[in-house]
Amino acid sequence: MYEKVCIPDIFGINVFNDAMMREHLPKPVYQELKKTIERGEVLNSSLADIIANAMKDWAVERGATHYTHWFQPMTGITAEKHDAFLAPPTGGKAIMEFSGKELIKGESDASSFPSGGLRATFEARGYTAWDCTSPAFLREDAAGITLYIPTAFCSYTGEALDKKTPLLRSMEAVSNQAMRILRLFGNTTAKKINVYSGAEQEYFLIDRELYKKRKDLIFTGRTLFGAPPPKGQELDDHYFGSIKERIACFMHELNVELWKLGVSAKTQHNEVAPAQHELAPIFDDCNRATDHNQLIMEAMKRIASHHGLACLLHEKPFQGVNGSGKHNNWSLGTDDGQNLLDPGKTPHENAQFLVFLTAIIKGVDEYADILRATAATPGNDHRLGSQEAPPAVISIFLGDQLVDIFDQIEHGEATSSIQGGRMRVGVNTLPDLKRDATDRNRTSPFAFTGNKFEFRMPPSSGSISGPNFVLNTIVADVLKEFADELENAEDFNAAVHNLIRDTYIAHKRIIFDGNGYSKEWVEEAQRRGLPNITNMVDAIPALVTEKSVRLFERHHVLNRLELNSRAEINYEAYTKQINIEAKTMIDIASKQIRPAAVKYAGEVAQSLVAIESTGADASVEKELLQEINENIKNFHECLKNLEEVTEQANLLQGSSYSRAVFYRDYVFEAMNALREPADRLEMLVDEDIWPFPTYGELLYNI
Ligand code: ADP
Ligand code: MG
Repeated sequence: MYEKVCIPDIFGINVFNDAMMREHLPKPVYQELKKTIERGEVLNSSLADIIANAMKDWAVERGATHYTHWFQPMTGITAEKHDAFLAPPTGGKAIMEFSGKELIKGESDASSFPSGGLRATFEARGYTAWDCTSPAFLREDAAGITLYIPTAFCSYTGEALDKKTPLLRSMEAVSNQAMRILRLFGNTTAKKINVYSGAEQEYFLIDRELYKKRKDLIFTGRTLFGAPPPKGQELDDHYFGSIKERIACFMHELNVELWKLGVSAKTQHNEVAPAQHELAPIFDDCNRATDHNQLIMEAMKRIASHHGLACLLHEKPFQGVNGSGKHNNWSLGTDDGQNLLDPGKTPHENAQFLVFLTAIIKGVDEYADILRATAATPGNDHRLGSQEAPPAVISIFLGDQLVDIFDQIEHGEATSSIQGGRMRVGVNTLPDLKRDATDRNRTSPFAFTGNKFEFRMPPSSGSISGPNFVLNTIVADVLKEFADELENAEDFNAAVHNLIRDTYIAHKRIIFDGNGYSKEWVEEAQRRGLPNITNMVDAIPALVTEKSVRLFERHHVLNRLELNSRAEINYEAYTKQINIEAKTMIDIASKQIRPAAVKYAGEVAQSLVAIESTGADASVEKELLQEINENIKNFHECLKNLEEVTEQANLLQGSSYSRAVFYRDYVFEAMNALREPADRLEMLVDEDIWPFPTYGELLYNI
C-alpha cells in the first residue's frame, strides 16, 4: 500500500530556505543576508558566525551530525568532504560547533581534482567558498543526516576550478548588460535580471541484477557489445505509455526526496526508447537549477538501487535505440517578474522583445562553436546527428510567426517613428504575439518555445552549468554591443529598428525551421557556412580561440588560463573515457566472448562429428561451424588490433589534443570494428552459453 504524501507539507523541509532563515536569524542579520542574496552584495563577514550558528542549530535539531562544503569540480559530478559539528572536547565532553569561518570558506586539496595544468603553475591548495544564493540543505540517507553547503571551488590563486564559478560570473554579466537595454526602454523599476533554467532529464532504468552482469555498464555506463533485440522502438509504444508499477514506485520515492530538498519535480513520463524515462522540474534561477540537476542525477542513481534497479545516465547506453539528452530551457526575466522572452501584448514590449531575440540570434550564430562545445562529451558523440537527437549543426527554430515579423522588418520601411504613443518597428503594428502561436519543431537544437529557448543538445550525464554559462555570456556580449550603440543613438526608435533589421539580415543564416534530422539540412547548413562539428575532440578547440578568450575575458567569466585548463581537462576526459572503454572491451572480449564462442564452436564440432558418424547429412552443422569459425577468426583479429592500438595510445607522448585525436581515429575505430563480429557471434551462439544478458533482457525485463 502506498504512503500518502501531501506536497506542501514536505516541500523544502530539508532546505535552509527563506522561511527558515527568517525564523532562525535575528532580523537585522536576516535582512543583510537577503540583500547579499538578492543584490549580489558582499556579505559582512561579522555576520557569518551568527548565520553559521543558526544553520547548525537548525541542522542539529533535525538530527544532522556532519556538514560538508558541496562543490562541482570539473569531473562533472559533485564532491564533498564531511566534518562533524565538533569542537575540541572540553573535560571529555563533546561540543557541537560550526563557525562562520567554517561556513564561508573550506580548504580542499585541489591537486586531486582535474585542473588542466593550473596545478603545475600554482600550489595544490584549493578553496571552497560559500554560495549563499543557493540554499544549504540536509541530505538524509540510511547512514544519517548531513548539512550540505553549496560552494564554489577555486585554486590558491583564485582561478575557477569548478562549474559553479563561471556560471555565477556569467549571470552577473548578462544581468548587467540586459539592465542597460531595459533602462533604454524606460524600465526604471527592475534592479536585476534573473536567468532561468529548466532542465528535462532523460534516463534509463534497468534491472540491477542484470546490470551487475555487464562489465561494460559497470565500467563505462554503456553497452559496448549487444546485437539488436527483435523489438526496438518501432511500435512507438513506450513514449508516454503507462508507467509500470515498479518504475512508478521508484519515481514516487525520487519525487518525495526531491520535494523535501526543494526541487520542484513536476513532469514524469516514459520516453521514446524502451526502458527510458524523463523527469522535468519547474524552472528556477539557473544557479539553483544547476545545483538541483546535480541532486536529481545523484538521487536517481541512489534511489534506483532501493528498487532493484540501475539508473543509466549515459547519452547512449544502447546502440540502435534512442539515447538520452538534457533539454535546457532558458529565459531571462526581471526581478519584478517580467519574462524578457515573452513577446508581450503591446508593440512597445514587442520592440524590446525583438531586441533581446535578435541579440540571442546573433550570439548563437557568432558563437555557435562555443555553444556546441558545451554539449561535447564522449557519450554525446553517439547521439548528435544520428536521427534521434539534434544534428551537430547549431541552428535556431523561431516558428512561422516570428520569421514572418522579421521578414516584414527586413523588407519594411527603414524609418521608424512614434505614432499615437505607439512605437513602430518597421511594421505598422506588430501583431499581438501569443505563446504557442506556432507549431513545435522537435528536430531543432535551439528552439523558441513561446517564452523561452530550449537548447536540446546538452548531454544527459553532464552538468547544465556549461550550456548556461556560455549562453549567458554570449547573450551578455551582444547586449553590451547593442547597449553601446543604442545609448548613443540620436533617434532611439530608428536605431532600434535598424539594429533589429541589420542584425537579422547578418545572422538569419542560423534560422532554420525545417527537418533538422535530414541529410539535405546538413548540406544546406554547409552552404550557409554553419559549422558542423561532429565529435568532442573537434568541438573542444572552440573554447580557446582568440575570439573565445576575448569574449570570456571581456565579461570576467573565465580568463585565458582558466579556458586553457578547461580545454585540457576536456581532452583528458575524452582520452580517459575511450581508454577505459577500450580496456573494458578487451577484457570482455578475451575473458567472456571468445571463450563462449570457442566453447560453442566445440559443441557444434562434436555434433557434426556425431551426425557424420551416423552417415546422416551434416551439411547444416558444417555450414554453421564454418560461419562461427569465420566470425571467431575475424573477432580475434579485431581484438588483437584493438589491443595493439590501445597499447600504442597508452605510450603516446605529445599534447593532450594529439592523444585525443589518436584515441578518436584509431582506438575508437578499432572498438567499432570489434563490435561487429561480436554482435554477429551473439546471434549464432546458444543463448545458454552467451556470457551476459542481451539487449532483449536488459530493455524488456521490468
Ligand atoms: P516539453 O517536453 O514539452 O518541452 P516539459 O514540460 O517537459 O516540456 O519541460 C519544459 C521545461 O521548461 C520545464 O522544466 C519548465 O519548467 C521549463 N520552463 C517553462 N518556462 C520556462 C521559462 N520561462 N524559462 C526557463 N524554463 C522554463
Ligand atoms: Mg519534455
